[in-house]
Amino acid sequence: MQQLTSSQQLSAFARGSDVGLVPTMGALHAGHASLVERAKQENGCVIVSIFVNPLQFNKADDLRKYPQTLVADIALLEKLNVDAVYLPQYADVYPEGNDVQQLSAGSAGDSFEGAARPGHFDGMLTVVHRLLQQVSPSHVYFGEKDAQQLCLARLMVEKLEMPVKVVGCDLIRDADGLAFSSRNVHLSDAARNDALRLHQALIRASEDFAAGERQAQNLLNTIHEVLNGGDIKIAYCAVVNDKTFAELNAEVDCGSRVIIAAEVGGVHLLDNMSLVS
Ligand code: AMP
Repeated sequence: MQQLTSSQQLSAFARGSDVGLVPTMGALHAGHASLVERAKQENGCVIVSIFVNPLQFNKADDLRKYPQTLVADIALLEKLNVDAVYLPQYADVYPEGNDVQQLSAGSAGDSFEGAARPGHFDGMLTVVHRLLQQVSPSHVYFGEKDAQQLCLARLMVEKLEMPVKVVGCDLIRDADGLAFSSRNVHLSDAARNDALRLHQALIRASEDFAAGERQAQNLLNTIHEVLNGGDIKIAYCAVVNDKTFAELNAEVDCGSRVIIAAEVGGVHLLDNMSLVS
């Protein structure tokens, strides 16, 4: 595996025409590995980027505390037979320094995670756009774990007519049901136990949906019941159209997505599930 530590090294890396890019912020886990494995199946060359993008953090403390495990990340990517890991510095991604003209995520980026973390999606789209320009992949891989991010990346690529296919990959969970997240290392045992309720609440709502419940509010009531108690502060909880992330307040249909974000023991966690009958 090549380690590309500058944009110059990335430009010089011979990569052919079918290239899969997996953008990450490191602290890699089984969720990231699943994206890499999918990219390996579909491309002759796979590049993983690791860059903790300051533009998508609205709190300096959150950025400072973001877990960094570079040695373990590189060992995992070697094991997964990745062709190259791109490890840019800030100036490789943003040569203009602090004068970055950010892309706007528009109204779909102002709701839910965008409301909880103002500016987050503008920063996310800005870095994804830069990485797509620098790597020129044929495919780029995102996890459904961050469903709003995936939706916005799709909308950006479509709007800007970028020549890349956005591939959404399944959300991967630990054996106990907790969605893998780099932030899980910050959970105490008690908080991790509370965090399991996110998945349990989603299962209950999807069981209700499968049994015929179609009213968004009733599904959300069930979720609130399961989440009630423990050290859980719900940031938002909604049913959305998966293609637009518009909130559904009345009848929901197959393929709608239930999304939850909560502070559990002080850690910001996301989870979601697509409704199927
Ligand atoms: P991050 O490093 O958190 O920015 O995540 C990089 C990519 O991995 C994003 O596309 C995430 O949606 C994806 N990802 C993170 N956690 C998971 C998970 N548990 N299952 C599937 N994909 C994930």
